[in-house]
Amino acid sequence: MPEESRCWLCHRSDAEVSAFADVETSREREILQQASQVTRFKADFVQSAEAWRKGLPKELKEFEFEFVTSNADQFKPIRIGNGLLGEIVAPNKLLAEIVEARKLTADWLESVALALREGDGEIPGFGPLSRFEKADMQLLNGMVDQFEAKWRRRIGSDGSRGADPNGYVHGFEGLKLFDGLEFMIAVGLLYYGVQAQLLDMARRKEISSKSKRGISVLPVNGYPRVPLCSVCVEVMRELGSRRFAVEPAISQ
Ligand SMILES: [Zn+2]
Repeated sequence: MPEESRCWLCHRSDAEVSAFADVETSREREILQQASQVTRFKADFVQSAEAWRKGLPKELKEFEFEFVTSNADQFKPIRIGNGLLGEIVAPNKLLAEIVEARKLTADWLESVALALREGDGEIPGFGPLSRFEKADMQLLNGMVDQFEAKWRRRIGSDGSRGADPNGYVHGFEGLKLFDGLEFMIAVGLLYYGVQAQLLDMARRKEISSKSKRGISVLPVNGYPRVPLCSVCVEVMRELGSRRFAVEPAISQ
């Protein structure tokens, strides 16, 4: 495109439109804020995990994690003898925290893992998988696969018991309290890792859609092809003008 080419409507040059587009968008700012929030939440989670490891009563160690956490209420009245210190208060507060954290992290990750495995569905909060780049989807898949291979365990439970044909068991099946807690903590860390990755992807997508800004020569019905800037094209599109063919490079 010749240097002097200016938008037919607003007369801005390609450089002017690009400079305008270089400004950080509100969506970009929003994504960055979310990313720093994820970093903060992860740090809190790591801190809580330490407290859970120390605070879970050893007396319950023979119970399954799933049983203890899904019957947290039953453990409320329990007072556990603790030698010198007498009794420690029931672990209900810790258990409630663990149940809450698990709901937040594992439930979400479970539905993400399922969607990725089936290559269909959506990532809650991030939209349908069909909108993702193939490479991004593979990257996410790799994160989940690696995790499940390491633990020989699927993140989610499909309700079946025992190992699947790959030798993986599901969810927390068979894990005693403390092993279950370690699995839950690992799932939680993966949750924050996947969230951070998704936000990074969203940010890259936002930036690359910006870089498409500039001037293109487009046909408008009844007129010869004219140079139009992406800003004007967007405005025309928002106004509902169907009078011109929009080239793929500009359609978002
Ligand atoms: Zn323009």
